[in-house]
Amino acid sequence: MKKLAAGNWKMNGLAAHLSEAEALAGAHAQPGCEVLICPPATLIARMAQTLGDAPIALGGQDCHSADSGAHTGDVSAVMLKDAGASYVILGHSERRTDHKETDAAVRVKTEAAWRSNLTAIVCIGETLAEREDGKTLDVVGTQMKGALPDGCTAENVVVAYEPVWAIGTGKVPTMEQIAEVHDFMRTELTARFGDAAAGIRLLYGGSVKPDNADEIFAVSNVDGALVGGASLKADDFGGIIGAL
Ligand code: PEP
Repeated sequence: MKKLAAGNWKMNGLAAHLSEAEALAGAHAQPGCEVLICPPATLIARMAQTLGDAPIALGGQDCHSADSGAHTGDVSAVMLKDAGASYVILGHSERRTDHKETDAAVRVKTEAAWRSNLTAIVCIGETLAEREDGKTLDVVGTQMKGALPDGCTAENVVVAYEPVWAIGTGKVPTMEQIAEVHDFMRTELTARFGDAAAGIRLLYGGSVKPDNADEIFAVSNVDGALVGGASLKADDFGGIIGAL
């Protein structure tokens, strides 16, 4: 299984920041893992042009469940693919909060991603209140059941565990807490998808930085990271890539 370092630029990035992607490509001409940048949709096509043959994949941060139509302001999986994307992040906690996205909505978006041959990175994770109530595994299990369609394989899906309270806060679960959730996710995926589950990559996301990447990547069933803030600068993201 090739591990994955995925950068989520969120609503950050102008043409001037394409140089960060270029610098990353220069510094990691032969990365030991798969490298992915998910810039804002406005930059995907230009970043694809800038990167040329560099071994960096591109992805969107959301897609609509329909392929085209009267949905002002939305972007479809077909469009992401056309712009040069091969991945799309779905169900990020910021989408769930800002746009009231449910697991059922994430599921139909995942199916839309598959129609366009995009690999879906489906995000799940508990809030602080849910963790303090001892509900973490219940929440993660329910989100996986609801958001993942039948037919998940190593090629068409990646699951990202992102505790909501760890995103952008500098707070990171203990390595035991990460292991508990990732082992549980693998068990649940195996129960539902059988042999195909062994190759599905499980990313940890939430305040991953160059200085904590080593210990996070050593945790069982952690197959890479979904990185927000630290993916914006080539030096920081490069440090994380180097740890994989
Ligand atoms: C994210 O947005 O997916 C994320 C993990 O953010 P950060 O790395 O900044 O916590």
